[in-house]
Amino acid sequence: MFEKVLIANRGEIALRIHRACRDMGIKTVAVHSTADANAMNVRLADESVCIGPPPPRASYLNIPAILSAATITGADAIHPGIGFLSENGDFAEVVREHGFVFVGPAADHIRTMGDKIRAKAAARELGIPVVPGSAGAIASASEAADTAARIGYPVLLKAVAGGGGRGMKLARDDAQLRALLPLAQAEAAAAFGDDSVYLERFLDRPRHIEVQLLGDGNGAVVHLGERDCSLQRHHQKVLEETPSPGLDEDARERVCAIAVRALERLGYQSVGTIEFLYQDGEFYFIEMNTRLQVEHPISEMLSGIDLVREQLRIAAGEALGYRQSDIRLCGHAIECRVNAENPDDFRPSPGRVAEYLAPGGPGIRVDSALYQGYDVPPYYDSLVAKLIAFGSDRHECLMRLRRALEEYVVGGIDTTIPLHQRLAADAEFRSGRYDIGWLERFLAG
Ligand code: ADP
Repeated sequence: MFEKVLIANRGEIALRIHRACRDMGIKTVAVHSTADANAMNVRLADESVCIGPPPPRASYLNIPAILSAATITGADAIHPGIGFLSENGDFAEVVREHGFVFVGPAADHIRTMGDKIRAKAAARELGIPVVPGSAGAIASASEAADTAARIGYPVLLKAVAGGGGRGMKLARDDAQLRALLPLAQAEAAAAFGDDSVYLERFLDRPRHIEVQLLGDGNGAVVHLGERDCSLQRHHQKVLEETPSPGLDEDARERVCAIAVRALERLGYQSVGTIEFLYQDGEFYFIEMNTRLQVEHPISEMLSGIDLVREQLRIAAGEALGYRQSDIRLCGHAIECRVNAENPDDFRPSPGRVAEYLAPGGPGIRVDSALYQGYDVPPYYDSLVAKLIAFGSDRHECLMRLRRALEEYVVGGIDTTIPLHQRLAADAEFRSGRYDIGWLERFLAG
C-alpha cells in the first residue's frame, strides 16, 4: 500500500480522501491555492504545498505545479478527487510517466468516456442501450433536421465536450432546431473550447438512475446498487437517494447486470459510475463517470464499503477480494447537497462562516470542510457540505433527514439548507413519485 498520497483537489472531497487515507495509515499531502491556505484539509494534512493563485487554471489545473509538489514531498500516488483533473486522460498518463500512481482508471478509459460521442459508441459496443440520436457531431442544419426527423421531436442539442449539465438546448420542431443549432455551437465553443454538438431524443419524464461500480482490472467487477439522482435543477443534481423509489427489484437487477457486464468487457480498473435515463421501463445510457462521484456516500451507507479506500486499494494493484454475493445492501440513504447559495435565487453566497453547528445522532453523516470562522472563497464550486441520512427504510431515513436539517446551523452565509427543509417536508417528494423535471416544477410553483 502507498505510504503517502497527494490529494490534487480542495474542499469537502479533499477532506473525504484525507480521511480515507488516515483510516488506512497513509500520510497525506494537500496542495492548495492561495485562497485555500486555511482550509481544513490543508490543516489536517501531514504536508501541504501552495501551488498557485486562486483561479483553477493557475492552481488546481496546474499540472506542472502538482507534479512538482508530488516530487518535492515524495508522494507515491496522486488522487485527483472530483472535477478539476479527475477526468483528464492526459493528466493520468503524465502522472504515471513521472513514476507516480494515478488513483483512477486507465487513461484510455477516461478519454473514451470523456468524449460523449465515443462514449455512446463504446456503450453500444458494450451492450448498453443508448438514447436514440445522431451517430456523431452534427455538421449542418440540414443534417440536424434529417436526424431529428428520424428520431422524432422533441430533441436535445448537447455539447460533445459537455459536462456538468451545461449547454443543452431543447428543440420542439424544425424551425426551433435550425435557430438553436448555431447558438448551441457558439455556447459549446465558449464553455468547452469545442463547438461540436450532437442530437439526442429528448425524454420528457425520465428518472436519472446510475449504478455504482468497482472493478479491479483482473476480471472482478461488482456493483453497489443504483442511486436515483432525478432531483435536479438546471440538469445539476440537488439530492440523491438509494435505493430508487422508482425501481422494482426486476428493473434494479436488470440495470445493475447491464452495467457490470459492460465493465467486465472493458476490463475496467477503479471505481466508476454508469448513468442512465429510465423511462417507460427502459434504461438508456447517458454517460460514464470514470471517477469518484459527489453522491458516493449514500452507496457507502448501504454497503458498508468505503469507496475511497477501495479506489486506493485497486490503484495499488490489490484484488477486490469479494464477490457480488458477499455484498449486502440494506437500508435507505439520502444525500442533500448543501451549496453556499441563496436558497431562492441560487446566487452564490461566499463569505465568512460566522456560526457552524453540524447535526449528528443516529444515521447522520456530514461530509464538509466548513468550520466556524472559515471564509468560503468565491472562486470555486458552491458545494460546501453534504448531509447524508441513513435509515432502515425510506421512512426512517426521511424522518432523520428532517430532524438533521432542523439541527444544522450555518450562519453568516446563505445556504440551500432551507430548500432541503422544504423538500423533506413535501408530500409529493415523500411519496417518491418524481422525475428529472419535478424539482424545477416544484421551485416554479
Ligand atoms: P452532463 O455531462 O453535462 O452532466 P448528461 O448527459 O450527463 O450531461 O446529462 C445531464 C442531465 O441532463 C441528465 O441527468 C438529465 O437530467 C438531462 N438529460 C440528458 N440527456 C437527456 C435526454 N436525452 N432527455 C432528457 N433529459 C436529458
